[in-house]
Amino acid sequence: MIVQTLVIVPGVLTTSHFEVLTAARSLGTVAVVSLGEPDVEVLARFGVDRVHVPDFDGHPLDPAVVADAAAGVIRESRPDAVLLASTFAGKAIAARLAVLFDGGAIVDVTGLRVDGARVIASKSVLAGTWETECEVTRGLPVFAVKPTSFEPVEAPGGAVAVVRVAAELSDAARAVTLEARVPRPESGRPALNEARVVVAGGRGLDGDFSLVEQLADALGGAVGATRVATDEGWIDHSAQIGQTGVTIAPKLYIGAGVSGAVHHTGGMRAAEVIVAINTDSEAPIFELADFGVVGDAAEVLAQAIEALRER
Ligand SMILES: Cc1cc2nc3c(=O)[nH]c(=O)nc-3n(C[C@H](O)[C@H](O)[C@H](O)COP(=O)(O)OP(=O)(O)OC[C@H]3O[C@@H](n4cnc5c(N)ncnc54)[C@H](O)[C@@H]3O)c2cc1C
Repeated sequence: MIVQTLVIVPGVLTTSHFEVLTAARSLGTVAVVSLGEPDVEVLARFGVDRVHVPDFDGHPLDPAVVADAAAGVIRESRPDAVLLASTFAGKAIAARLAVLFDGGAIVDVTGLRVDGARVIASKSVLAGTWETECEVTRGLPVFAVKPTSFEPVEAPGGAVAVVRVAAELSDAARAVTLEARVPRPESGRPALNEARVVVAGGRGLDGDFSLVEQLADALGGAVGATRVATDEGWIDHSAQIGQTGVTIAPKLYIGAGVSGAVHHTGGMRAAEVIVAINTDSEAPIFELADFGVVGDAAEVLAQAIEALRER
């Protein structure tokens, strides 16, 4: 079966959106709802054949607003499945759409395949200890695709049709007002959930993240942390990896002064290569690690940075 997919993306696309477009294309045809002015050339490179551009009439793009606008497009174009990136906002939009269309949302999807008329999703559960396959058995299936789970692959198609529509907002969505917008300070680093390399620090750093930041920069990666480190105020809460933080699946994870508590490892165990630096050779993180260094984090990080600089 060729599945007609509808993918929700912002106007400015990043790697995680290219991944979702690639995932959608593996199922069938790809149309897009663009939440900003679309880059039609880029969409064409990823095989999109149609882009719906809702006019939000100045409304802030809260998940309730986006879900209503996407719902209008879904009623009109009747896709077999809706896909979007599994971010905090993406998950909220997915849940709203599933309710609106009496369907189901599967978040943090790491794989998708078609089996006859069914679309089967894979995802890991229970802090990454089980890999499962699941499907939405009634109504509209909505898949929130976990960043870094798909390799973005271009597949240029034909021209992209642009369809401009008025966003039909419910009273609940209209009630959303924007009080303030507080931009995060620009670090110049990749987003934690999209980064191919993540260097994370824990209590063992004793409050000093400077070497973790330097190593992350030397490797072009993002900085992550355990909850202890964020609760202590050593680094912003947005850096927290784990059950109550961000789930990551980078090519390389380096944990310095991180014990490997299950609440943390649930958010990073999908990393392809795990390197642990810890003074305690019995630390649980060594059970997961592909490479382990028993030593003081400050010394080992400084040596790693030095070695990279020499190269
Ligand atoms: C409901 C719930 C949800 C939670 N959610 C999360 C979550 O999302 N993310 C998360 O991270 N945690 C979470 N936690 C907390 C989690 O259980 C752990 O307490 C936390 O991950 C431990 O952080 P840590 O590894 O930095 O600290 P510790 O467990 O204290 O480990 C510090 C490590 O540093 C090593 N060390 C000490 N000195 C050095 C040195 N000089 N050089 C190298 N190593 C050194 C020690 O040997 C030790 O292994 C949650 C807890 C609960 C109850």
